[in-house]
Amino acid sequence: MTRHRAPLESPLLTRQLQIFTDAERVIAHPVVRNRGTVGGALRQAGPSAERSAACVAIGAKMPIRTSTRERILSMGQVHRGRYRTAIGGEIACPAAEEALRDARPTGEVFAHAAQLAANACAHVSDQRGSGEYKRHVAGVLTERALRRATARAQHREEER
Ligand SMILES: Cc1cc2nc3c(=O)[nH]c(=O)nc-3n(C[C@H](O)[C@H](O)[C@H](O)COP(=O)(O)OP(=O)(O)OC[C@H]3O[C@@H](n4cnc5c(N)ncnc54)[C@H](O)[C@@H]3O)c2cc1C
Repeated sequence: MTRHRAPLESPLLTRQLQIFTDAERVIAHPVVRNRGTVGGALRQAGPSAERSAACVAIGAKMPIRTSTRERILSMGQVHRGRYRTAIGGEIACPAAEEALRDARPTGEVFAHAAQLAANACAHVSDQRGSGEYKRHVAGVLTERALRRATARAQHREEER
């Protein structure tokens, strides 16, 4: 029931989980953000949904309730692919994630992870651009996001 605009209005969330508000800020436009809900978007599992990616990145867990039982699943278990949700299965880019795990945050590591993310990109050509263009942009944005996250984490450390 939480609408997209709600996280944007939360100073606490902005301070503690800025990636989440970064994601919300670029979702569509105010009409969609005023009406659409976080739960609906996560359930929809659109392949380019910013919030789903943010939830995977922060290791979010999703409680799934039916009338008879409740399970708590990781986002990787919830999302099974484009517009598909299910139990089990993994999304995002596991190869890039693996390359980053326990690695020092260097430019070489980021470039390697960005290349893996670009390779994993499903390059469908459509009205938004050619597959090749999207693959290239996926790599560029991955590297940029890693640099920004590192700078942000360093800034937090210095503030402590
Ligand atoms: C014009 C437009 C532009 C958009 N642009 C973007 C964008 O830039 N980035 C982005 O990430 N998304 C974008 N979206 C997607 C948007 O975020 C989702 O459509 C919206 O959040 C869906 O929320 P809703 O509450 O309307 O869900 P609904 O459409 O009502 O529901 C979607 C599905 O989820 C189910 N559902 C809803 N809530 C729950 C719940 N709590 N638990 C279990 N199942 C549930 C519903 O039964 C339905 O099957 C865009 C959508 C539109 C229309």
